[in-house]
Amino acid sequence: MTDVAKRKDVAPAPLEWEYAPAPEARDIVRFEERYGLFVAGEHVDPKSGQWFATISPASEELLAEVALAGPEDVDLAVGAAREAYENGWSGLRPSERAKYLFRIARILQERSRELAVAESLDGGKPIKESRDVDLPLAAAHFFYYAGWADKLEYAFPNRRPRPLGVAGQIIPWNFPLLMLAWKIAPALAAGNTVVLKPAETTPLTALLFTDVCRQAELPPGVVNIVTGDGSTGAHLVKHPGVNKIAFTGSTEVGKAIQRELAGTGTHLTLELGGKAANIVFDDCALDQAIEGIVNGIYFNQGHVCCAGSRLLVQESIYEPLVSKLKRRLTTLRVGDPLDKNTDVGAVNSKAQLERIRELVASGEEEGAEIYQPPCRLPEKGYWFVPTVFTNVAQSYRIAQEEIFGPVLSVLTFRTPEEAVEKANNTAYGLSAGVWTEKGSRILWMTERLRAGVVWANTFNRFDPTSPFGGYKESGFGREGGRHGLEAYLTFD
Ligand code: NDP
Repeated sequence: MTDVAKRKDVAPAPLEWEYAPAPEARDIVRFEERYGLFVAGEHVDPKSGQWFATISPASEELLAEVALAGPEDVDLAVGAAREAYENGWSGLRPSERAKYLFRIARILQERSRELAVAESLDGGKPIKESRDVDLPLAAAHFFYYAGWADKLEYAFPNRRPRPLGVAGQIIPWNFPLLMLAWKIAPALAAGNTVVLKPAETTPLTALLFTDVCRQAELPPGVVNIVTGDGSTGAHLVKHPGVNKIAFTGSTEVGKAIQRELAGTGTHLTLELGGKAANIVFDDCALDQAIEGIVNGIYFNQGHVCCAGSRLLVQESIYEPLVSKLKRRLTTLRVGDPLDKNTDVGAVNSKAQLERIRELVASGEEEGAEIYQPPCRLPEKGYWFVPTVFTNVAQSYRIAQEEIFGPVLSVLTFRTPEEAVEKANNTAYGLSAGVWTEKGSRILWMTERLRAGVVWANTFNRFDPTSPFGGYKESGFGREGGRHGLEAYLTFD
């Protein structure tokens, strides 16, 4: 173990109190040595002949080898999805489609422990998050959209909803199985078939999901999984047989996809980055706000598009708030993702760790003041200490760019008008948080904040019935709720 303590400020020392390790059993999940692609209900070797390794970011151990799909493989997957769409799925009675979705939801619940361990191993997130957030929400999405499958005419009265056809879906590495559920559940409920590409660093739960599809006896070709890197995603985007692309990931890639599809008639939804303001007024319940701030930025190592990465604090409570926050940081447990005591797990990849380090270095160079609690990190794997920056100017890169790591930038404001001005001073517009005891102030703020989601006296709450999505460079289109269905339908 190395000591990476970096204290430029003094927070009251916490009690020295060690928890006994409480590791989740890892042998509940057994990975194959190699995974092929999932096309037309079969696992097949890639025509590209290429494979790549997926490792655990916490230990750098090899977990499995995975196929890298080339253009021919993507073509076969799109062909299988088309075949399934035209010869069965789109003509199936909606209540039959619902049955498959209900079955998938039930199987996800039954296998949730296994899938949660797989998610934590492949992605580095703490088991308590994959177990208590990712898996229950993934199952909830399938349950929710199963309920809509035979009620589309009620959801959109007098509009004659019809499916789009084949949906190409590209997802990131921060919530692999949950993003899969956000994409696949509404697409199938609306009567489409799908080709999904998971992220290069986190393909394993999508590959285990193929087994869930088989268990549910989903007709072959309704769900196809093509693993690979960015080039695989690009082949899927360019494929002329795809009717809709749904992408979640970086703004840069989202823009490239939008350029690629301009004028083609392919439907598109983009869920991109964010730089959310978490705004704390001086009349808030301070201890609850501290928990909300911690949950807002250190949840899932800060790998969250809607993370509350800019903290806006009313000047009158700046000092007590920052002092309490620093003290709270000393109690966060960083380490083994499979330990049930762990609060902050491993950073998803070496590349992401380097990106976080580079942005943190820029913050120090530009003049912000850094605080990191004393923290012992494992020697192997990719780790970053929960970090707070104070003295941050709005122009600093750490206040403007998405860091996608456990790094919080603190700014201050005096009046509600100034809070709104600063919160909206970003290229993004995905989410925001407001902490105050006044309901009228919450409503006043939400009317003015340019963000797809505004949480009041809470943060990072998700529900399948509630639409989620952004403005400006955070993308367009909504996922979740009835709005999420609309993105997979066409109307007369
Ligand atoms: P990307 O946008 O590159 O990755 C998202 C998905 O798109 C992955 O499946 C990726 O594949 C795929 N992809 C990459 N290039 C292309 C392409 N040209 N055409 C089609 N699909 C493509 O995000 P990164 O992993 O590179 O992360 C970089 C930054 O993006 C992060 O630091 C973070 O700031 C932000 N980000 C935001 C997310 C969000 O939810 N808003 C999620 C993830 C990242 P592959 O993984 O195989 O490269």
